[in-house]
Amino acid sequence: MTISTPVRPAKTRVLIAGATGFIGQFVAEASIASGRTTYVLVRSTPTCPSRAKVVKSLQNKGATILLGKINDKENMEKLLKKHEIDVVISAVGAENLLDQLVLVEAIKAVGTVKRFLPSEFGHDVDRADPVQPGLDMYNEKRLVRRSIEDSKVPYTYICCNSIASWPYHDNCHPSEVLPPLDRFGIYGDGNVKAYFVAGFDIGKFTMKTVDDLRTLNKSVHFRPSCNFYNMNELATLWEKKIGRTLPRVTITEDDLLSAAAENRLPESIVASFTHDIFIKGCQIFSMSGPDDVEASSLYPDEPFRTLDECYGEFAQQVNEKPLHSNGNPPPKPVVELLTITATCA
Ligand code: NDP
Repeated sequence: MTISTPVRPAKTRVLIAGATGFIGQFVAEASIASGRTTYVLVRSTPTCPSRAKVVKSLQNKGATILLGKINDKENMEKLLKKHEIDVVISAVGAENLLDQLVLVEAIKAVGTVKRFLPSEFGHDVDRADPVQPGLDMYNEKRLVRRSIEDSKVPYTYICCNSIASWPYHDNCHPSEVLPPLDRFGIYGDGNVKAYFVAGFDIGKFTMKTVDDLRTLNKSVHFRPSCNFYNMNELATLWEKKIGRTLPRVTITEDDLLSAAAENRLPESIVASFTHDIFIKGCQIFSMSGPDDVEASSLYPDEPFRTLDECYGEFAQQVNEKPLHSNGNPPPKPVVELLTITATCA
């Protein structure tokens, strides 16, 4: 009998902080699936059932759970040395971005980590310039970048753009919610384009970069040409999937700026990013910088999941939902309820 052994593309030992979070789960799953030795840092044994389930599931798939916080320098140094960690990936959420400054100090002190990927997973924060309160978040991400560069810690910045979903301006994890079933809110004239990437691919392509020399000290932009859509095109795609047309209501630039100015967290942060993406066009720029590389050019043989496929899956979920007595599906159903925190790009 022949026993097939799993493909292990690299012996890299990866530590992921934030793996119980929205983006971190995709990254941790992809790290395990890639065959790398995967350690997951958790702050404490989770009491919240959904987080406990994530930890258990990652453990069952082969991850080793380590207890600790990234802002505990002494413990981080100990863990990095003991487990001979090659790559550290942080996917901490918006409230804890500055905790990474301590992690950078620990990585620098240990001196053996070959790559650090800070919690980015959105726009290129040195290029994009959202209004407040999104700007405060970008300033924190910028501060972390500068501390990494000043410490000479080898890094990769993942700029994966928008997550494949309907881009609700008041929800930082919009892929957890189905596209609209009553009416579309279209930002401005609906003609400004953005790149959409499935969560699964955020994980998969992030893991491709971690030991690739071409991504050392670079920003990796995820710009799959198949997933470059404006709001009007997204609406048409969804209409095709559900087999009916919906009214389109304009959400103006002023509406988005007012929602941002309300300073309700996290919704106002999302409104400021939505304004930056769909009014100002922050995802559209020339990739000419020496420190920029693009994921589909680096890995031309690896397909991205198309938005068409993702919307097809959303439509399947609509079909599986019970209809109201009036024959219509329930409005804006939630795919899976998870804690919503202040995040996004
Ligand atoms: P979440 O809030 O969902 O998760 C945060 C995670 O970080 C949790 O696992 C939390 O652990 C952990 N954490 C927080 N502080 C610490 C600490 N000091 N030490 C160890 N672990 C810690 O985050 P998101 O997934 O929403 O955000 C992650 C990144 O992704 C952010 O940079 C965000 O801007 C970006 N993002 C991008 C999106 C896009 O569309 N492109 C969408 C959403 C996010 P615990 O379980 O203990 O709370």
